[in-house]
Formats: sequence, C-alpha cells, structure tokens
Amino acid sequence: MTEVQLQEFKLDPDSELRFEVESKNEKVVLEVKSGYAELFGTELVKGKAYEFHTGAKVAVFTWHGCTVELRGRTEVSYVAKETPMVIYLNVHAALEQQRVAAEQEGTRGPVTMVVGPGDVGKSTLVRILLNYAVRMGRRPIYVDLDVGQGSISVPGTIGALLVERPASIEEGFSQQAPLVYHFGHKSPNDNLQLYNTIVSRLAEVITERIDSNKKASTSGVIINTCGWVKGPGYKVLTHAAQAFEVDVILVLDNERLYNELKRDMPKFVKVVYLPKSGGVVERTGGQRAEGRDARVREYFYGKRTPYYPHSFDVKFSDLNIYKVGAPSLPDSCMPLGMRASDALTRLVAVAPSPALAHRLLAVSFAAGPEDHVLHSNLAGFLCVTAVDTERQTMTVLSPQPRPLPNTVLLLSEMQYMDNH
Ligand code: ADP
Repeated sequence: MTEVQLQEFKLDPDSELRFEVESKNEKVVLEVKSGYAELFGTELVKGKAYEFHTGAKVAVFTWHGCTVELRGRTEVSYVAKETPMVIYLNVHAALEQQRVAAEQEGTRGPVTMVVGPGDVGKSTLVRILLNYAVRMGRRPIYVDLDVGQGSISVPGTIGALLVERPASIEEGFSQQAPLVYHFGHKSPNDNLQLYNTIVSRLAEVITERIDSNKKASTSGVIINTCGWVKGPGYKVLTHAAQAFEVDVILVLDNERLYNELKRDMPKFVKVVYLPKSGGVVERTGGQRAEGRDARVREYFYGKRTPYYPHSFDVKFSDLNIYKVGAPSLPDSCMPLGMRASDALTRLVAVAPSPALAHRLLAVSFAAGPEDHVLHSNLAGFLCVTAVDTERQTMTVLSPQPRPLPNTVLLLSEMQYMDNH
C-alpha cells in the first residue's frame, strides 16, 4: 500500500505544473485552490477535484498564477517556467483573425493541419487550438487522421467531429455523432491506397457539411496527423493537405519537414514552424499499444461515465464480413483493365473462423458490398469475444443490443482482449 501523498504547488504567471501517473491502478486528484489555470486549453474549475489515472501525462498551465494541489502518487511532478504557450496563443490569435475575416467576407475559415514526428505534442496542440476557438464562441471541426492512436474513435480509423464545447478535462472532446471511416491498420503504410482514398472521402464530406453550416464554415477545421513524416509518410501528408485544401500547416519540431513543405506547398499555404513543449513525453512502443487498448476499452466501457455494452451470440450465416485489400499481384497478373493498386481497395469476403477472435469489426452504413463501402462512414464497432465453430456462432461485444444491423462488417487488424 502506498500512502496518499499531498503536494501543493504555487505557480507564477506563464508557468505550468507537469505530472505523470505511472504506477498501475494509481489515481491522482488535482484541485485548483486559488487563481486560474487551464489544462491543454480547458479552464479548470476552482475547488473541483479532477481525477487522473495510470498513463496520464498532464500539464496545468496558468496565465495569471495559481495554487494547485495534487493528491496521490505521481511519478514526476515539477513546475516549468519555459513553455511555448505564448507562441501557441499567437497562432490562435492569427487563426481568429482569419475567422473574423471569413465572417465579414462570407468565406470559409482557416483549415489548419498540424504535422510533425511522433511525440512532439501534435494532438495536444490541436486540443489547445480547438479549445481556444470554442471558448471564443467558434464551432470548429476537428479532424483526426492519426490511425495509430485515433482520439475520435478507435485506432485504425480516421474521423471528424464538430466541436461545440471545450474538451472535458477527464474525457476529452464529446464524442457525439462523429464521422468515422474504416482503415483497419495502425499505420497508413499498411495500405497507402486505401488511406488516401478515405482521407479524400472525409475531406469531401466535410466540405459538403461546411457548405450547409455557416458557423462551422467560418470557424474552420483543425487537422491532426500521423507522426510518419518521411518518404511515403511525407506523400501522405501532402495528399491530405491537398484533399482538405489547407490554408495553414503548423510544423512541430522538425526543420527538415518545414523546409520540404515550404518548398512543395503552393504559395497561398502558410507553413509555420513551431517549437515543441519541453513537457511532451516520449512514449515507448509498449505505451502506445497500451494507449490503443485503452481507446478500445473506452469505446465499449466509457471512461469517467461508464457504458454498459451488450454481449450476445450471432450465427455465422447472419454475418457479412469483408476485409479491404486483396493480396497484391504484379500488374502483369491482373485481369485486363485492372491495376495492381486497385486490388488494395477491393472488398474480399472473410469466412467466420476462430482467427477472428478478439478482432474488431467495423459496422458500416453500407447495406451490401456493391454499395460504396469505402465511401460509407461507420455506425460503430463490435469486438469478437469468442468463436464457436461447432455451433457456427460467434459472441460479440456491442454498444447496441441485438439484433445486428444487416450491413457490411469490415474486419480490422486491431485486437482487443475483453477481460472487463
Ligand atoms: P503527438 O500527438 O505528437 O504524438 P501528444 O500531443 O500526444 O504527441 O503528446 C505526447 C504526450 O505528452 C501526451 O501524453 C501528452 O499528454 C503529453 N504532453 C503534451 N504536452 C505536455 C506538457 N506540456 N507537459 C506534460 N505532458 C505533456
């Protein structure tokens, strides 16, 4: 048993308290005692207890000074005076000017893409900028193209959300009605053709939606990306920039990437170099895998607010499972008029088998394989918890009660062991 530790920190203006919760099943409670503070752009309420669990890496920033109390065991906790927050605030102010201009001229607000290698604080900067925008009364669209971590839905997807209120301190942005597309892998490299196809599709749908929502249109879009920035990874970024017709690219902590984008982007795209925060913590492969697992667990069971998923059996014969991408053959072996790259976006029927145990299945809105499956967004996810070949059934975990909708199910590479 560890005794509960109590720590009090006095923060000067423009400084932040950084802490990490590392040990298993640990809980740390944060409370602002006096003054004003924010957490990645969300204001903290004075006297309210916020809980953080294993894996949390957090910064409490104050513009005006404050006193903060931490209860529980933190692995690391220190106050930093050097932060890039003033620079990030200036970026927000520049975007805000563009939103004001868009409002006056009846045009579209800024479309901003945040790029950089892994663990430089891309997701954090996106969260800060969205929070600042929504605190000014804007309604920006948040796009996450990071299939590796995926903060909008489960890993292996890309998605978008209309942000209507600041991120909750403990639960992030409200996940109401996200627009989600299936990819099924952890890295764009696993199927570049498919990745680019769904990125283009998501961009198309967002453009359509923005056209019918003036408030969202003037507020603009903020896009998070994968940390893969070299070779094909760079091409994926420039493709996304083109698809979303970005106006601003914020490059975190990578001069080479900054220079490449300056060289290759059309002149009207503003490419801005930003320093990363010294507080950003590098994650190991194991921590990333844990992060992915936690996202799936949250999808089914909730985070602070608990969800109660359903578990039931379905007959093999009632399932329409497909995966995207046939094994690729050289062009010379393909039927006339088909290219090898087409195979990568083809649907292939998958027979239910024990190999599907613990895999995620994306529930598509597409009714059949002949529907535009890759262009259809997702209704949600199932997790196969058991397969019984004798009875020809499988047990699934589902946010919705039975029956399953009679639509296409897309097999994901993501696995989840349900031991709740
Ligand atoms: P990226 O999106 O580039 O991979 P993240 O934004 O996810 O990076 O940041 C990596 C980790 O560092 C996250 O767990 C995040 O909470 C943490 N982090 C970011 N900024 C700070 C900071 N200023 N102080 C402490 N931890 C931070």
